[in-house]
Amino acid sequence: MRMPQLSQSDSISIADKARQARSVTHETLTSTERQSLRQQSGELLAHEDAVLVAHYYVDSELQELAEETGGCVADSLEMARFGLTHPASTVVVAGVRFMGETAKILSPEKQVLVVEPQAECSLDLGCPSAAFSAFCDQHPERTIVVYANTSAEVKARADWVVTSSIAVDLVADLAAKGEKMIWAPDRYLGDYVKRQTGADLLLWGGSCIVHEEFKAEVLLNLKHQHPEAKVLVHPESPASVIELADIVGSTSQLILAAQELDSSFFIVATEEGILHKMRQSTPGKTFVAAPTAGEGATCVSCAHCPWMKMNDLQRLIAVLKAKDTQVHIDEAIRVRAAVPIQRMVAYGQQRG
Ligand code: SF4
Repeated sequence: MRMPQLSQSDSISIADKARQARSVTHETLTSTERQSLRQQSGELLAHEDAVLVAHYYVDSELQELAEETGGCVADSLEMARFGLTHPASTVVVAGVRFMGETAKILSPEKQVLVVEPQAECSLDLGCPSAAFSAFCDQHPERTIVVYANTSAEVKARADWVVTSSIAVDLVADLAAKGEKMIWAPDRYLGDYVKRQTGADLLLWGGSCIVHEEFKAEVLLNLKHQHPEAKVLVHPESPASVIELADIVGSTSQLILAAQELDSSFFIVATEEGILHKMRQSTPGKTFVAAPTAGEGATCVSCAHCPWMKMNDLQRLIAVLKAKDTQVHIDEAIRVRAAVPIQRMVAYGQQRG
């Protein structure tokens, strides 16, 4: 059965949005100015009874601020769980739009602010809810499994939400019960899960503009230059890149692997923001970003997400003052979207 492909105009509009995001330039600041912004951000967070939750892919400065001020740096699910359990009345999300939505779905009574409301995700953009819902209607016999990188509306249509850390196990369990599934939106992760489990998955055709840029040939060259290196790969990458991996896993699993593996040199195929956490948690080891062949093939590593990089300290301060980036979700959609997310949380807890 053919997977639904994104139309050419859909792909162009995603690329255009990514280019617009990439063109956002941050002011160049002196270290004294940065320090002052950091201090001001910390004071505002405390004054507003707000906690900052940041994704591993945002700028290292925001990651450090989140940790210094009692917030967290995590993957999207852990960010939402942290916001839920933290006593602060306001959760400020440094990441992309769907992360703010997930936090709001789980914590409807809290004020959830996003640092940058224009920060999107090519997986979310590539899975519009009306088209996805129509596709699901054509396959009513299939269980709908969607990745966390989707809108609240798409989650509301799903039976299960998953993160990359539990995708293989959950799909294997559902397949063992005889279930056939729709998988959305990332076709590379879906293909990986399908190969790992042998499950009957019908794949949506989306992709992450960062991970699909990793190229096996140049990665192989780098491996030859550093035969001692271990290669850590996120499964949103193409199959040819995954084949070269020593470890394939979610952001949290890759950070753990960097700590546990007996090697001092790592090549990392995921968004380069993760290198900050790897270096911080494993001093003395060397981490380099896996090569890509993007941007006219001159770029050695373009492994950065233009939307994640829109988040910065000035935006955070402006948002804490104006509170004009609150996340609002229609209550009926929120209630429906909470069901597959809570199912995922319970599944994760069961597995320990
Ligand atoms: S790195 Fe890819 S999956 Fe993550 S937010 Fe950016 S576009 Fe989306």
